Amino acid sequence: MSRIVVKVGTSTLAHPGGGMNIRHVENLVKVLSDLRNAGHEIILVSSGAIGMGVGKLGLSGKPEDMPGKQAAAAVGQCELMYVYDRLFSEYNHTIAQILLTGDDLEREDRRTNFENTLFRLLEYGAIPVLNENDTIATAEISVGDNDTLGALVAVYGKADLLIVLSDIDGLLTDDPHRNPDARIIPLVEAIDDSIRRLAGESHGHQGTGGMITKINAAELAVNHGIDTVILNGAKPQLMYDVLEGKSVGTRFVGKRK
Ligand code: GLU
Repeated sequence: MSRIVVKVGTSTLAHPGGGMNIRHVENLVKVLSDLRNAGHEIILVSSGAIGMGVGKLGLSGKPEDMPGKQAAAAVGQCELMYVYDRLFSEYNHTIAQILLTGDDLEREDRRTNFENTLFRLLEYGAIPVLNENDTIATAEISVGDNDTLGALVAVYGKADLLIVLSDIDGLLTDDPHRNPDARIIPLVEAIDDSIRRLAGESHGHQGTGGMITKINAAELAVNHGIDTVILNGAKPQLMYDVLEGKSVGTRFVGKRK
């Protein structure tokens, strides 16, 4: 049994127009609930607050200014937790909300409070759901993107595995929009410049990070010995394959000390 941090982004949780992608969210919750039933400890790092807020407030797009983003996140975070609570409850699981900023993780006293709460929630059998506290976290004190937040949570939460769900199947040898022969790289044993170059530029426009933030997150986690897998969030059942040691998505191998 292992402790798994799963990071899911807006591109998986919402349709391009902002509405919730019910199929993706339901499938994700079903697989995570089943993994919990199998004895794994699950920590979910979920984006989607701003995206859901945009949909719920009926805005034409993601606000450009900081207060607009913060207001959208405040609305969307409720929606997100309401949906997770309802769906996880159907499988008899209890969730908990933790909202963090970069500052909370840098300051030892706050980080200790976070760790104590997280570990107690896991002991109680709950599924913690984390996001950045977007109301408070403006540039200077934010982690900035949830890929990095996922990696930090994996490190401080002493996870065995970090799974980053993306809108593509894994790290590809080339930009699939330009090269139809681009294929997935199944295993990365060392993250060097040649790997970083593959990240190219982000094509998503709903979330915050692109492939580069995922690679940075993987680097942070593997440096702490945590294997990291990038998978397509549209196929959460692939997480079963990951846990069975099958080759799916891209696995970055954690450095053994
Ligand atoms: N915290 C932001 C949200 O929930 C997302 C940050 C990210 O996508 O990396 O909308």
